[in-house]
Amino acid sequence: MIQLQSYVLGGWSKGQAPFRDLVNPATDERVAQASSNGLDMAAVMDHARTVGGPSLRAMSFEERGAMLRTWSKALYAAREALLDVTMVNAGSTRGDAKFDVDGATGTLSYYAGLGKKLGDRKWLVDGESEQLTRNSARFYGMHIRVPIQGAAVHIGAFNFPAWGTFAKAAVSILAGVPVVTKPASSTAWITHEMVKVLTDQGLIPPGVLQLICGSPGTLLDHLGPQDALAFTGSADTGAKLRGGHGPVHASTAVNIEADSLNAMVLGPDLERGSDLYHWVKNSIVLEMTQKAGQKCTAVRRVVVPESLVDALTEDLSEELARISIGDPRAEGVRMGPLNNRAQQEDYREGVSLLSGEGRIVYGDPERESFEGVKDGQGAFASPILLRCDAPLQAEAVHAREVFGPVVTLCVYDGSVAQAAAIVAKGQGMLASTVASSDRKFGGELVFELAPYNGRVMLIDKKVCDQATPHGMVLPNLNHGGPGRAGGGAELGGLRGMEFYMRRVAIQGNRGLLDKLFA
Ligand code: NAP
Repeated sequence: MIQLQSYVLGGWSKGQAPFRDLVNPATDERVAQASSNGLDMAAVMDHARTVGGPSLRAMSFEERGAMLRTWSKALYAAREALLDVTMVNAGSTRGDAKFDVDGATGTLSYYAGLGKKLGDRKWLVDGESEQLTRNSARFYGMHIRVPIQGAAVHIGAFNFPAWGTFAKAAVSILAGVPVVTKPASSTAWITHEMVKVLTDQGLIPPGVLQLICGSPGTLLDHLGPQDALAFTGSADTGAKLRGGHGPVHASTAVNIEADSLNAMVLGPDLERGSDLYHWVKNSIVLEMTQKAGQKCTAVRRVVVPESLVDALTEDLSEELARISIGDPRAEGVRMGPLNNRAQQEDYREGVSLLSGEGRIVYGDPERESFEGVKDGQGAFASPILLRCDAPLQAEAVHAREVFGPVVTLCVYDGSVAQAAAIVAKGQGMLASTVASSDRKFGGELVFELAPYNGRVMLIDKKVCDQATPHGMVLPNLNHGGPGRAGGGAELGGLRGMEFYMRRVAIQGNRGLLDKLFA
């Protein structure tokens, strides 16, 4: 069995017993072990701050971008091997493995391009400079952004060990801040292999990227005021970290990406059989089945007019019945298992809770029989469609994220006011979609949904054949949502870099400021 090591202090380091097992959730086989016990976390942080930080800050955006480009190319060249590891570690289908691994190389490449555009500079100018007093045309003020002088600690969720790690790393490194990354233990093998590809080719300058496989140990106790913590995972863990020693006592910058009850609202103008209706139907099926619904951005609630709910239930049920679920190595399988048995248990509990406020109209949460596996083997889950006829009176439907292939159809009266009120009950989402070709309805609803979401898609009949899927996170657009979703903001091109760069006001002689910083 593979024993994962951590890449720290310039070399690969073995952890000590006890080890945590990594299990292929399709076969129940133990495939690897990880432990970070015995690592000196204070030294890891120090190495990032004193070795990685200075060398990154000595580089221009263009040079950092060029480094990210080499990473993207090297990982792309190793793509087949990385997809294989993803399939074994996460039990993913090949399509789901590509979604994660290609997301990583794509985001690295995007930030490499941004670095090139930013050119031979080491700071960002923030807004216009301004004359500060009425009688002096010389005394000016301006704002610039400079990289913080600490380290970025990144903690990732199990569902995106590739994209999650490198999307965060790309932004931080382009900003000029070294990274200590800790992926979720259960899928850390994938991240381990990716970092190994880079270290084997000598592509990581000392201290710029360190990897912890296993628990974070005391890592977070060593956070200081110039460090940053970016976390992705459950709201419960996020809340613990926000209140931890480092963040509170040292005022460390914290970014939390957490749970989200994302919504898709179908306008009252939507007609069964139209192109837009097909897009909606296919999108819902994709959101439910891609990565077995284990995407933070996946649609959890579909807000559907009463006049359309029966037809949509029938059409979705037909589509879902066609999806073959099982061991991704078996012929024709399109959906793999959940991440582990605990997630399967959580899915069953969640569906049972939601069933108290709606009724199951498709799927069986206790289903045990799947393609290519013995009955009861693996952490598989049937897609579940629920119908809730009184969503404004429901609570769990809007509060319990079932992290799996589960969607609730929330019936509404077709008005902007009711749709907005239903979506808002989710108390902060990563992404919501409005599917309507009625400009007035779409325009008014987007405005209502905007304060509750990190990203809103407005899809009409003219764009539905070109639109990216609801759950796809793009590096040039904001990712992160208010409230329950954690209140974080990542990516969004330059915007994501702001988290790692301190904005400072500079006052002085206009000519000198222009020379030094403009
Ligand atoms: P989790 O249990 O909260 O774990 C997330 C990460 O936190 C893991 O790396 C975990 O390490 C680590 N961790 C756990 N306890 C910790 C502690 N006390 N101190 C420091 N680190 C700690 O979440 P998950 O089950 O992996 O992920 C699923 C959740 O993530 C879902 O709710 C999903 O919505 C959310 N998610 C959100 C986004 C987003 O962008 N908003 C993206 C993906 C997933 P170990 O694995 O070693 O325990």
